[in-house]
Amino acid sequence: MSSKQNEQAISPIKGMRDILPEEARLWQMVEASARKIFELYGFRELRAPILEPTELFERGTGASSDIVTKEMYTFTDKGGRSVTLRPEYTPSVVRAIIEHRLDLQPLPLRFYYTGPMFRYDRPQKGRYRQFHQIDVEVFGEQDAAIDAEIIEMAYRFFQEVKVEGVSTLVNSVGCPRCRPAYGQALREAATKASDRLCTDCQRKAEINPLRIFDCKQESCQEAARTFPRITDYLCEECREHFKKFLSYLDLYQLPYRIEPTLVRGLDYYTKTTFELVVENLGAQNAIGGGGRYDNMVKEFGGPDLCGTGLAIGLERLLLVSKLEAPAPDFAYFAYSGEQARQASLLAARYFRTLGIPCIIEFKERSWKAHFSRANKIGATWTVIIGEDELSSGEYQLKDMLESKQYKGTIEQLTQIVIEKEKARQGILGRD
Ligand code: AMP
Repeated sequence: MSSKQNEQAISPIKGMRDILPEEARLWQMVEASARKIFELYGFRELRAPILEPTELFERGTGASSDIVTKEMYTFTDKGGRSVTLRPEYTPSVVRAIIEHRLDLQPLPLRFYYTGPMFRYDRPQKGRYRQFHQIDVEVFGEQDAAIDAEIIEMAYRFFQEVKVEGVSTLVNSVGCPRCRPAYGQALREAATKASDRLCTDCQRKAEINPLRIFDCKQESCQEAARTFPRITDYLCEECREHFKKFLSYLDLYQLPYRIEPTLVRGLDYYTKTTFELVVENLGAQNAIGGGGRYDNMVKEFGGPDLCGTGLAIGLERLLLVSKLEAPAPDFAYFAYSGEQARQASLLAARYFRTLGIPCIIEFKERSWKAHFSRANKIGATWTVIIGEDELSSGEYQLKDMLESKQYKGTIEQLTQIVIEKEKARQGILGRD
């Protein structure tokens, strides 16, 4: 390698990005809210690996879905196995349930998770190749009330993270009993409209016409709007389920609209599908989506256990969230000389034991330089330890927000910090 090449900066992979500390603070707040809200509804965290056997998604997500055919990060590992960076989370949870026989636990099972997903999609605003989802899944509950409760929970979460103007698009995609008749009607309509479809959709018309609804091309979308509606083909059971689902959305007074072309990009959905959209997000306006998948566990060779769930995209959520991260509160130590430095180290250890964040720097500084440094890095408190303080055992504490100064033992000073911070909902009140 030439020295010039050596000097070239290495950028992240296209469609992947760093989340720097200031933004990461917002992520922490959003993730903490998700945990708090989901646990209020009885959900527990289930963490699965990021890397899975490719077959898991081929069988779970669906061999003809865009995700599997075009967007997976798949490679062969050193043992010659085909592995894939997960493009979505649901198949992993299903695998874990079967593996650990979680179906033997009292049903329904409620799980949540937050982490990165990978799709080799065309990057743009709100669309990345590594993105993050918050995912919730319920297993073993047929009742449509749970589908509505998941959406109600999402709204509560949106409120907590200051996301407004979300509406819900809903549909039912039926079940294996009613879908063949619909598939037939759709195939006929698609064949008739063939000259208005892109070549990809012409192919889909043959193998899986439902997937034409996923196409982003305007001419295909226009043709799809004239196709028969699945809601006109639902069997009695699916029609009742859909009606009940809508009645619970009404009960919660959630804003929804029936969208007959909403089939979602995955093959496994049955009955309920929904998408959570925000008007001012432009083309990528879905911040979440989900639905019911009553046959996936069985199709994976597991028990007959129905499922329903929701995934929320964190990048898109943060694009519309009005959350603001408060600047971190912490104490800075100003000291002079080795003995005072040691006293500072021990004092900071005591402060931290009580939950008060501290920063100690090791550059020798004049008192003036210490104070300007404390201001520059945004310290909330400055603890001052010089010769006088060392000999008296009483240190000084400066409240940088109120420009007040206190003197006292380390115990007295930490009490002042704790009381003041509680009053300001700072270091100790936040969490
Ligand atoms: P899906 O798993 O496709 O139903 O997506 C659920 C949510 O994840 C979407 O509503 C988006 O908010 C988010 N999402 C999906 N794909 C991406 C992506 N490539 N980049 C960013 N967010 C995404």
